[in-house]
Amino acid sequence: MSIRSFFFRCAATAACLTFLLGATTGCSVNPATGKRQLTLISEAQEIQMGKESHQQIKAQMGVYPDEELQRYVSDLGLKLAAASERPQLPWAFTVIDDPIVNAFALPGGFIYITRGILSHMNSEAELISVLGHEIGHVTGRHGVEQLSKQQLAQVGMIAGMIASPEFRQFGQLAQQGLGLMFLKFSRDHEREADDLGLRYLVRGGYDPTEMDNVFRTLGRVSAAQGAGRVPGWASTHPAPENRVARIEQAVAAMPPEAHRGEINRDLFLGKVDHLMYGADPRQGFFKDNVFYQPEMRFKLTFPAGWKTVNQRQAVAAISPEQDAIVVLQLAEQEDPTAASAKFFGQENIERGAQARNNFFNFRTRTEANAEGKKPPGLRGIAGFFAYGGQVFQLLGYCREDRWSNYDQAINRAAGTFETLNDPKYLNVRAARLETIELPRAMTLSEFDRRWPSTIELDELAIINGVTADQQLESGMLLKRVVGGELP
Ligand SMILES: [Zn+2]
Repeated sequence: MSIRSFFFRCAATAACLTFLLGATTGCSVNPATGKRQLTLISEAQEIQMGKESHQQIKAQMGVYPDEELQRYVSDLGLKLAAASERPQLPWAFTVIDDPIVNAFALPGGFIYITRGILSHMNSEAELISVLGHEIGHVTGRHGVEQLSKQQLAQVGMIAGMIASPEFRQFGQLAQQGLGLMFLKFSRDHEREADDLGLRYLVRGGYDPTEMDNVFRTLGRVSAAQGAGRVPGWASTHPAPENRVARIEQAVAAMPPEAHRGEINRDLFLGKVDHLMYGADPRQGFFKDNVFYQPEMRFKLTFPAGWKTVNQRQAVAAISPEQDAIVVLQLAEQEDPTAASAKFFGQENIERGAQARNNFFNFRTRTEANAEGKKPPGLRGIAGFFAYGGQVFQLLGYCREDRWSNYDQAINRAAGTFETLNDPKYLNVRAARLETIELPRAMTLSEFDRRWPSTIELDELAIINGVTADQQLESGMLLKRVVGGELP
């Protein structure tokens, strides 16, 4: 289930509740921003929504398995939130096991930062800037405001989604593939979160000039990734115009004592020493169109030239025209028979002849519209099998009228699931950060020659927040990246 559609459902529920209870809705004054705000969602509903999504996000994206690091981030976040205008919320701060550079906030005070963004920060004050910005989205009730707007606009759309659950299920996979996962804020909300973040940074006793570094680094990351390629920070936090200039002005206007705040660079770099860097190949990786899963010991060959997607709960390939998909996921049922029964038991799915081994053809039933026209349904194959103590579901499908184009490719892919035995693939390890203290002044290029990294110099410069030819002082701590090579 995608997070976005879950939000839609929450919104629908909240709207229904509001109508049923006849609760008063309208505007209230926000304690953090002092602005009047449209609020169809009460604080209790906001907290409830956040709590429900919290479990899903943790399951779907994965919690980074390092208790000490989790505690470090959580302690900092909780302290900051306690000094905010909404200290009563059930604040929770979680480091997500994801290499993408991102941070996000759910209504109710649930805040997530990826290990990807952590690996790009270079001081505690920078980390605090990110946490403060996300806290600002919560205290500013930006998520709630977005939901309230969507609620008014999308009643029709929600009704449509509820009417056809199986299409929702199919649609979500395609959506996930496109990375439409999070609520997107407006530029106004970003400006407000920047201002609130700066407020919390100063209240926390940190040096406000460090906030600039964060925006600079995030800007360099999006420039290097190319617009829209990866669903990261830039796709959910649109940069307001003159962001850096605005913050610099605000910082310059602060009294001199504000500039003597903490930075805690070395302390922070000590915390991220050995942090996992980049994609974790133990969670499966692609080489061309072949997917290798070393933990579960299998491989699967997807159709050549298709766009591949590797997510925690599914691995898939989408045809270049984006009109066909092959997707492998774990089934929730305990055995293949039950999983198959669940799938074919869906009202609008019709089981056809056996395709191969335990694969069956299927198509979805569609209903004629008012003009008597029947839109094309979906056609494909579905297989359910047990392997390594787990039950898998493998689906390949497309629009019914395109089946002749994809029949062969989909059936061929379905037959390629096999055991992975090659130790070269079984023993892959993720890359890690390593912190080094410079024994003398040097440039980053020299540092990279003396302590080589498994990433390019350009990327190394970004994660260290410096340029390649900048002179770096003796005694300074720098990050390098070791390991992570694929066979
Ligand atoms: Zn933001």
